[in-house]
Amino acid sequence: MSAERLEAPPLVDERSRSDSLVSPLPARSDFVLDVSNFSVVYGTGEHMVRAVNDISFTLRRSAVLGVAGESGSGKSTLVYAMTRLLRAPGLISGGVVNLNTTRSGDAGEETVNLVTASEKELRKIRWSHVSIVLQSALSALNPVLRVGRDFDEVLKTHRPDMTRAQRRERAAELVSSVGLNEDRLDRFPHELSGGQRQRIMIALALALDPELVIMDEPTTALDVVTQREIMNELQDLRARFDFAMIFITHDLSLLVEIADEIVVMYAGSIVERARANELYEAPRHPYTLGLLNSFPPMHGQRRELTGIPGSPPDLADLPTGCKFHSRCPYAMTRCRDEEPPLTSLGDSERSVACWLHVGGPGVSVPVELSRDATTKDRAHANGERP
Ligand code: SF4
Repeated sequence: MSAERLEAPPLVDERSRSDSLVSPLPARSDFVLDVSNFSVVYGTGEHMVRAVNDISFTLRRSAVLGVAGESGSGKSTLVYAMTRLLRAPGLISGGVVNLNTTRSGDAGEETVNLVTASEKELRKIRWSHVSIVLQSALSALNPVLRVGRDFDEVLKTHRPDMTRAQRRERAAELVSSVGLNEDRLDRFPHELSGGQRQRIMIALALALDPELVIMDEPTTALDVVTQREIMNELQDLRARFDFAMIFITHDLSLLVEIADEIVVMYAGSIVERARANELYEAPRHPYTLGLLNSFPPMHGQRRELTGIPGSPPDLADLPTGCKFHSRCPYAMTRCRDEEPPLTSLGDSERSVACWLHVGGPGVSVPVELSRDATTKDRAHANGERP
């Protein structure tokens, strides 16, 4: 697949990394991915659409970062652009994506900026250091090849020293690790169930022991029972193979189960970032609250699903101020004119982009937006409705 990179000057502010926006960069050997001020556009000139705006985050080794948001929030564009798999008219317009390719036992540290890496470097990095599990296994697997051929091709390309028998043995080991019998390697994709196909994709992604696996809504097309089984298997696989993961989904309640940290995206920007349990217990951004209230909880008491009113904005015609203001039940007058910056709340590794929480003239106390908050609490938070 071809990757596109825009050489033109960045379209975002070239401000340097700010510690108020991101966690401090951990010691070199502690991070697998470090993304700074990363932006992506579709098209150019007057038809240009800003799909990902100035995203920064750091993913530690063996950790799971969840990326949540509705369709069109930019979450898939973010990971495809980061790995240079985004096709035209998608263009990277600024930023740095440092991947730490150091394996345990390596003498020195090696980091590659994926934004500037050559195609040759990218070919070496993909699959060996970073791999992707796509949403639709049916369209990702070659329909005219038995799935064993996919394993064989990957291993033959990246491990030319392996014999055919060794490749078959490795493929059998991989499918066994996702709970499938070796005979599944001799089947065509259409002979497998949706869950089996997705397990094959996960096993393929792990073929070369990558440090980072990106899961793009891997369970969205599956029934809830299979979804649950695959989520449990992913936990086991992580414990065995110790890879870091970026898990993308629109179902925040699912993410809370597997992620260490979650970023919530809206209209191409991060609007909240927090440890998974903190975000689940007390979401600070009204959009996060809306997402949590859009899906039934996996555990605990049943609650009414309220959803989020309205639709995500048209990226080609974004509103002024906070991009969420037309759908936000807490919107204040300033929300229509001024865009809130993503700001660290200072009490933890949490950041939020919302005027309810960002200090400034007349606003100093972060308002707790808890899913258990009473209507009165919320009315208090909403004292300046337009
Ligand atoms: Fe709602 Fe205003 Fe916060 Fe945006 S900045 S989420 S409109 S309260």
